[in-house]
Amino acid sequence: MKIEEVIKEKPHLQSPIELYGRIRTFIDQCKREKDRVKLDSDISLIDIVIKTFSSVFHIPYESLTFLKDEILKSGKDPIKEPTTLWSLPIQSEELSKEEIERMLFIISKPLFVFLRREGQQASFMENGKCPICGTDSSLSMITENNERIMICPLCEHGGSFFRIGCSYCFNKDSSKIEILLDDEDIRVELCLECNTYIKSFKETHYIKYKDPFLIDLVSLPLDIIAQRKGYIRRSPNILGLRIIE
Ligand SMILES: [Zn+2]
Ligand SMILES: [Zn+2]
Repeated sequence: MKIEEVIKEKPHLQSPIELYGRIRTFIDQCKREKDRVKLDSDISLIDIVIKTFSSVFHIPYESLTFLKDEILKSGKDPIKEPTTLWSLPIQSEELSKEEIERMLFIISKPLFVFLRREGQQASFMENGKCPICGTDSSLSMITENNERIMICPLCEHGGSFFRIGCSYCFNKDSSKIEILLDDEDIRVELCLECNTYIKSFKETHYIKYKDPFLIDLVSLPLDIIAQRKGYIRRSPNILGLRIIE
């Protein structure tokens, strides 16, 4: 389903879905630029990301070059560790703290995606975290064979996990997992042991939407319900939001 069609079906979610559309465009353009340009250094990859961010989000490039300076000054390597971008000490008079956090999250997204290699199969079984970038996941697909694939919100890697169980505390007792469904049959699984929730959707949802992150957004009302009940989302969604009100 195209983003415009999803918005028509879910007009109340227009603004998060539109923002996602831009983030997707940004990531895809970064990938294309990375393949097109001969990279001579890590900082030139950062430059591609900042330039692409500037063009997709209509922010003048000159007003973003300070980011490159901050990265160089920090001595950190956001290509190997994209999370280091999130803690850059950025002060701004025009942007609120939240806006800065959101911007750094979005800029880090393609760098996470670049960590992944095509066809990688590593699972989430060992510790419930993404084997590529180490983050928690709050989203999973149940396949037609009744297997669970966890999906990382940052690098977008998908890997198998136990069909029944909490990826945060490894509770596998189905009597300690409660399920809430929305009208599309997308579900949240609430772990009564550690108060974590993960969402799951079926392969049929995937066939309809073709994009797990879009499914995560069309089911935002489920996040609100789960969080009002006191359950915790351990990883951000594709927009960088973990707490959804
Ligand atoms: Zn990951
Ligand atoms: Zn748990």
